Amino acid sequence: MLKHLAVCAIIALLLASCEQAVQTPPQDVPSETPPQTPTDEEPTSEPDDDEFLQDSDGRVFSYVPAGDLLPQSGPGHADTTIYRPEIAFPLEDAAFLNSQVYRYGGSKGELNGMSGGQCHEANYNYPWQDTFCESRSRDQIMCPAGGHEGVDIRAASCVAETNATHWAVAAEDGRIIAPSSSRYTVKLQTSDGTLYRYMHLKMDELAVGDGEFVAKGQRIGKVWNDFFNSSGEPVPTTFHLHFEMYQNYAPDENTDPVFDQVNPYMTLVNAYERKLRAAD
Ligand SMILES: [Zn+2]
Repeated sequence: MLKHLAVCAIIALLLASCEQAVQTPPQDVPSETPPQTPTDEEPTSEPDDDEFLQDSDGRVFSYVPAGDLLPQSGPGHADTTIYRPEIAFPLEDAAFLNSQVYRYGGSKGELNGMSGGQCHEANYNYPWQDTFCESRSRDQIMCPAGGHEGVDIRAASCVAETNATHWAVAAEDGRIIAPSSSRYTVKLQTSDGTLYRYMHLKMDELAVGDGEFVAKGQRIGKVWNDFFNSSGEPVPTTFHLHFEMYQNYAPDENTDPVFDQVNPYMTLVNAYERKLRAAD
């Protein structure tokens, strides 16, 4: 009997450790800082019903803090401002913010041990990670040493494999300016001047036209991989939406504001949390 109990206890321990292994986050979570869940916010007097915000596939949303980029991928810009607290999240379905260059499928993925194709399942999961001021050769005010002036958003599934349609939608009511001279950018400007830039949509199948007024949440185009070099030749990128927002920004009260790209990361976190909450 005792022997039987001992065997049972060992089996129970093994099962428990298996369960633990399953629940352990993937080893390649690319940050020194643990992901945040909505429960990391200031404590409130009421029970936090946001503890597990799940997307339509049942995955629990989490995100790495703003400015905390993948190792060796750039300085980032730790801006926690929610610039626009009422925007619609710019994709209709679930989405994953993370690097297109320093992860699976990117030209520098191997720097972080992420060699593989863009459809690697780890690219299509939480936590989100900021890519504003990820290293690039071009300068901008927020990233003076050269940096990525927006954030990159993967759709709910990898179009290269699924051929699925994932719609990008208007963040706010506004007017469409499309396409730009770069041929892979659609702009959306609101009545107060706020400007959003959507890049790499399927440009020959846009759902909107130049000068058209759109309502918040209205479909603009399909998340795609359109990209062209300076000679105008197509050089497809990974399937994702590059998203920028322009706001008046002053680094401190003694400096005049400039109208330039700001880090939309926390604005998008806020929009996504509201989206998931509304879907509950
Ligand atoms: Zn980008």
